[in-house]
Amino acid sequence: MRNRISCSAQKLSQLEPEMVESVVGGHVFKLGHQYMTENRVRILDAHEGQINSEVDGTYGVYSQTIRLKSGTLTTKCSCPASEQPFCRHCVAVLLKNFQSRAPEEVVVEPVPEPAKEIIKHAPEEESKAASSSSVDFKFHEIGAFVDWIQGAMEAIAKDKPLPNLPDLPPGAVRSWTEAIQDLRLQYQASEKERKEFQSELHDCKNHIATLTQDLEKSTGEAKDYKVKYAEIRNELDQCQAMLEEHAVIVKERDRFADQMNGLRGELLRKGAELDSLADSLKKVSSALQAATPPPR
Ligand SMILES: [Zn+2]
Repeated sequence: MRNRISCSAQKLSQLEPEMVESVVGGHVFKLGHQYMTENRVRILDAHEGQINSEVDGTYGVYSQTIRLKSGTLTTKCSCPASEQPFCRHCVAVLLKNFQSRAPEEVVVEPVPEPAKEIIKHAPEEESKAASSSSVDFKFHEIGAFVDWIQGAMEAIAKDKPLPNLPDLPPGAVRSWTEAIQDLRLQYQASEKERKEFQSELHDCKNHIATLTQDLEKSTGEAKDYKVKYAEIRNELDQCQAMLEEHAVIVKERDRFADQMNGLRGELLRKGAELDSLADSLKKVSSALQAATPPPR
């Protein structure tokens, strides 16, 4: 969306946060400020009359072109937001531009004439001034670090990736951000391992539960088999008793058979005696017939 408003500033870097807030209102300003502190703004090209930039928005990267010419501020952003007179992305870009230019503005402030004289005549004072400048520079780094750490804390709270590292020169402050990023990466790696281990533990628990079920089933089956074994054992004892009875009966039968054989022998002997007695009777009868006179 493209917009034009009249503007009293001569340079884009002179647009102070308070001025921007008074134009867009508290809500859009707050969102723009948040985007800036989350390091979502990339200024591609900037000078006093124009800024070309990109901002990581909610649904992608949006491009901005902001111009200040002849008292007219023209803002253009590729986002679909209907915020007026310009969107949160342009707010974020203006704030970032103001922040990155602010130290230069401080440095170019004219030094009062008497102070210059003191510097000329006192070299040790000059070195103090130089160290003060380097302290200013470090304050700027610390400011960037504080902005970054706020975004980082929010990202950690929401379990999101850390914002991009601020563009800092090599030194203590930069090493802090790098150390924090390393710690975060190590934490994420250990967190991943912990989750994998937890998943494996869950699988093991399921496996143990399945094995326990199988064991309970097998124990139940073993109990059934034990009952069946007792029944078969009982039947076997009954069969054993029957076999023993049978053996007694067989013995008795054999004894009867022996007795029968004895009786048979006796009968045969008696038969032979009867046969010889019959023969004797026949002979007696024949003798009697011969001795008896024939009838007349
Ligand atoms: Zn926008």
